[in-house]
Amino acid sequence: MNPERRPLIAGNWKMFHGGNSGLALAADVVSIAKRVPHADLVISPPYTILGAVSLDCQGKKVAIAAQNLHAKDKGAFTGEISGPMLVEAGCTWVIIGHSERRQLFGETDATVAEKTAAALQYGLLPIVCVGETLAEREAGKTLAVVKRQLEAFLDILAASDKAVAIAYEPVWAIGTGKNAGPAEAEEVHAAIRAWLAEKSPALAQRTRVLYGGSVKPDNAKALLGCPNVDGALIGGASLDAASFGAIAEAA
Ligand code: PGA
Repeated sequence: MNPERRPLIAGNWKMFHGGNSGLALAADVVSIAKRVPHADLVISPPYTILGAVSLDCQGKKVAIAAQNLHAKDKGAFTGEISGPMLVEAGCTWVIIGHSERRQLFGETDATVAEKTAAALQYGLLPIVCVGETLAEREAGKTLAVVKRQLEAFLDILAASDKAVAIAYEPVWAIGTGKNAGPAEAEEVHAAIRAWLAEKSPALAQRTRVLYGGSVKPDNAKALLGCPNVDGALIGGASLDAASFGAIAEAA
C-alpha cells in the first residue's frame, strides 16, 4: 500500500449530534481508532462542539474536520467562520463544496476554488467534493461534470505540497440509500486520478480520493477495495458508532 494513500475514513455529521450525543459519539470513535490502526479517521461535528470534541480527541488518532469555512480570515460576515478560527478550534481538515452546499447554499465552482485556496493558506487540509446529479449521469455527462468541477481547483492543489483529499460523491447517491456500484465508482475515481497525474504525478500520488454516497457497512468492503478508492466520506452511517466502526474496519 502507498503510505501516502492510507485509507481515510471521514464522518460528515452534517447538522446532527450538536451536543452531548456528539461528545459521546466522538468518544466511541476514539475507541474505534484503537481497533483500526491501518486507517486515518476524521470526524466532522457541527461547529458548536468542534472545540470540545477536538480537546477530547487530542492525541487520540481522530482528526477533526469542519463542514465549511469562509474564504476570508476575518471580517463583518455575520454567521460565518474563518479558517484561522477553525484551526484554533482544533480542526486539521475542512470539507469544501459538499453537494448540499452547492445545491442549497449557492456555492459554485468559483467559491469552491476560493475556499480551497483559503483552507490551504490557513493550514487546513481540504476534502473537496465533486459529483454529478442524476440528470447529468443519465445524460452521459458524469465525467465531463466531474472534470469541470475538478479543474476549478486543480491548480490550487498542485501549487501546494499538502496531502489533501477529494471526495467523489454522486449527488443521486447521497442520503438516498442508492450507492454507486464498485465499477461505477472506480471508473470516476480512476479518471480523477488520471487528471491529477496529468497535472502532477506527485499530486496524484499523495491525494486520497474518497467515495461518498450511501456508504454502509454492507457495501463498504467492495467500494473500499477498488484500486482508486482511498477511503470514504460517510454521512448517515457515521452518525452511529457501530456502523462507522464497521465501515472503518472494512477499509
Ligand atoms: P450519506 O452522505 O452517506 O448519508 O449518503 C454522504 C455525504 O453527504 O457526505
